[in-house]
Amino acid sequence: MKFGRFKKDDKIFYGTVEGAYVREISGDIFSKYTILSNPVSLKEVEILAPCMPSKIIAVGLNYRSHAEEVKMELPEEPILFLKPSTAVIGPEQHILYPAMSRRVDYEGELGVVLGRECRSVNIEQAPDYVLGYTCFNDVTARDLQKKDKQWTRAKGFDTFAPMGPFIETDFDPANALIETYLNGEKKQSGSTSDLIFPVFFLVSFISQVMTLLPGDVIATGTPSGIGPMQAGDVVEVRIEGIGTLSNRVLAKQ
Ligand code: MG
Repeated sequence: MKFGRFKKDDKIFYGTVEGAYVREISGDIFSKYTILSNPVSLKEVEILAPCMPSKIIAVGLNYRSHAEEVKMELPEEPILFLKPSTAVIGPEQHILYPAMSRRVDYEGELGVVLGRECRSVNIEQAPDYVLGYTCFNDVTARDLQKKDKQWTRAKGFDTFAPMGPFIETDFDPANALIETYLNGEKKQSGSTSDLIFPVFFLVSFISQVMTLLPGDVIATGTPSGIGPMQAGDVVEVRIEGIGTLSNRVLAKQ
């Protein structure tokens, strides 16, 4: 099943996607809901970010290949950082290149969307707390990440958390191809089977630190091949079994 968030005629609503159509949902995708009848063509709606997380918990250095390319040692425990909810944008919305930075990178990642309030769960329980999966771009001001002692500024600019297009509930996170394309050229290619800390380990680990709320998103780390984007570029994160998240970069006015 695919859940999404949409806008039509100034009305914002959740819906389920079947092929080229969306059916509106009445209620809450995280608890009780009803799928209404009349399907609407996806061409008639604006596709928004598929949920509004209270927080995004991101994981640094979670692929061996990426740790090697940035010449950092493999972590013994997941390295966590937060991206603010205000950084979220949806498919086809613009990544704004901030004037403070001279190097802004893409990081294609698998996003995990929590479905239920989650606190101190173990790995076996973790799947019950996941609603589904989406494509995520952990946009990073690389120069500021190197300059600052921690990553809040580098990772936290408005528009630095593109996600979507939909939340796929029928997805196996153990072995999926994840790729990033810049202007149609493949830049990153990895498999979630290469994650140092796999998805359900992360859900369990993070839930022992902080309460996860429905709609919160875990960005699980990026494979090797990170690189810069320029104003005018189009970046796509493609995950097998989920879909494609596409965003254009614009200079911030
Ligand atoms: Mg990242």
